[in-house]
Amino acid sequence: MTAKSACYLDHNATAPLRKEAADALSAAARLVGNPSSVHGFGRTARRMLEDARAAVAAIAGTAVETVVFTSGGTEANNLALRGDGRRRVLASAVEHPSILEAQDGIETVPVRDDGVVDLDALARMLDESEEPALVSVMFANNETGIVQPVADVARLARERGALVHCDAVQAPGRMPIDMAALGVDMLTLSAHKMGGPKGAGALLVAGSVHLDAIIRGGGQERGRRSGTENLPGIAGFGAVAGNVGRDLDAAPAIARLRDSLEAKVSAEIPGARIIGGGSPRIPNTSCLALPGVSADTQVMALDLEGIAVSAGSACSSGKVRPSHVLRAMGLPDEVAGCAIRVSVGPESSDADIDRFVAAWRNIAARAGRNAA
Ligand code: PLP
Repeated sequence: MTAKSACYLDHNATAPLRKEAADALSAAARLVGNPSSVHGFGRTARRMLEDARAAVAAIAGTAVETVVFTSGGTEANNLALRGDGRRRVLASAVEHPSILEAQDGIETVPVRDDGVVDLDALARMLDESEEPALVSVMFANNETGIVQPVADVARLARERGALVHCDAVQAPGRMPIDMAALGVDMLTLSAHKMGGPKGAGALLVAGSVHLDAIIRGGGQERGRRSGTENLPGIAGFGAVAGNVGRDLDAAPAIARLRDSLEAKVSAEIPGARIIGGGSPRIPNTSCLALPGVSADTQVMALDLEGIAVSAGSACSSGKVRPSHVLRAMGLPDEVAGCAIRVSVGPESSDADIDRFVAAWRNIAARAGRNAA
């Protein structure tokens, strides 16, 4: 961090810990009991665990028995893909690496240029084989915010006998989630994307699905995930889960902030591109490209101004690798390698947006001067 006051516009990477989560976390950390112990200390810890379970289940309008607590979204995604026993897995090309790399041989379903999964391609791919399949399609993309037609995916997949998993890590508090209405069998959540602590997440598993644990031992979480539960993390998760309704109420205001950012960028910065602007999106995310200025240069220049955003590309051994998400949308490397993600949150303000736009305008102007 620089001496300048912080301007945190990277909520899709992680959201600042909310007060209610910090309070619940520290109260749980002071508890002595193991939730599996039968004595009073254990029962107190168990009550705290089950209260959090109820709050997390309510995020997706589902039953408490569906909730399997994990160490986060990554583990939940791995459990979904590897625990159900189906070896044939089809996942959209824009999934998070915790899906795409969860097992070998995953078949990627293309997305259209607008970032939305190609349903015809999915149907064709499913029809190619009778082997029981699992289809995994995310609720909203972490880089672009683009929302997938999960209910349509689920209908189409279920008609063909497939199970359906949805990585909904970026959705809570931004879009309502109803697991039954979506028609999915499994759904992933992560606490730290919604203002809870890092290292806590959940896989929600419909009663009809048999899941083999990938972490085995003590048989916790109804045998679906062994290991003493991370009670402080889970209690913090439960505390923010209980406030998802409040966040949904604030979503229109967040969308207005994001829209004002995009309007200013379009008006003031020649050549800037808004990626996915015409697609359905969660309200807080904007993927912006400044062709000619690499994403990592932008991120570093903004960081010097105290502004935190992410690159829409990953750096490996000093080389910028354009994101698989933007490539899958058919964007050329000159655009994909110059894309950043701005993701706002409940504490973001108009002043933050203005500060970002001014700094980005300067970066664009400097690049123009350099090129001249
Ligand atoms: N899925 C998506 C869409 C994400 O954005 C992330 C985190 O960036 C994950 C999964 C992984 O979650 P966690 O950080 O809790 O492991």
